[in-house]
Amino acid sequence: MKKGNLFVYSGPSGVGKGTILDKIMEEDSNVYRSVSATTRSPRPGEINGVHYYFMTEEEFYDSVGKNEFLEYVKTYNTSYGTLKKDVEDKLSEGKDVFLEIDVKGALNLKSAGVKAVYIFVAPVDISILRERLIGRGTETLEKIEERLSISSWELSKAKEYDYLLINDELDKACDELKTIIKASRLLIRNFDLSKYKW
Ligand code: ADP
Ligand code: 5GP
Repeated sequence: MKKGNLFVYSGPSGVGKGTILDKIMEEDSNVYRSVSATTRSPRPGEINGVHYYFMTEEEFYDSVGKNEFLEYVKTYNTSYGTLKKDVEDKLSEGKDVFLEIDVKGALNLKSAGVKAVYIFVAPVDISILRERLIGRGTETLEKIEERLSISSWELSKAKEYDYLLINDELDKACDELKTIIKASRLLIRNFDLSKYKW
């Protein structure tokens, strides 16, 4: 079976990454969001194995020792990591796998030469992030400020990515992401050229 594409998908907290990807996944069953491991506690409604694998520090660093992560970072005093097995299994099934990960993790993958389509989601105006995070209502004001404090640094790294999605109008951003996914399916590295009579 043809392998799926790997997408590395980042942007500042509150920009709308999750909202855009949720909408895409409603329409395209071939798109899969990788389930990361984290040491943070679940928010109301978050389910172990669905939103994250919630781990203790000990369990997390045990997995680090066993080389089970494709990448991991410690941020906001919490560790997050992408599990190799989850990603590899889904890619082999032909799924388009999205890693919704922070900028540090994404740049680590890029420096390690991991072949992926790197997508950055940005707002038109940085001030919208605070409004969206307050509107989402999932973090305390202290946690929101903590997240906002790194937004400018994150935005300064957008140019390291392949594609930029400006999330102003949600439907437009979703259409643009669909276009990127479609185009990625035509990347020459995904073709078995020996099949053609050239
Ligand atoms: P992220 O996953 O990047 O942290 P979310 O997807 O959780 O961000 O979005 C943060 C908040 O902004 C949510 O309440 C969401 O409904 C809202 N939001 C997302 N995209 C838009 C948009 N284009 N316009 C207005 N609000 C948006
Ligand atoms: P949250 O706590 O809001 O779910 O996520 C906080 C940040 O951690 C977000 O920027 C999210 O993309 C990032 N994140 C989630 N999982 C991973 C992961 O596996 N690796 C890395 N590097 N970042 C992650």
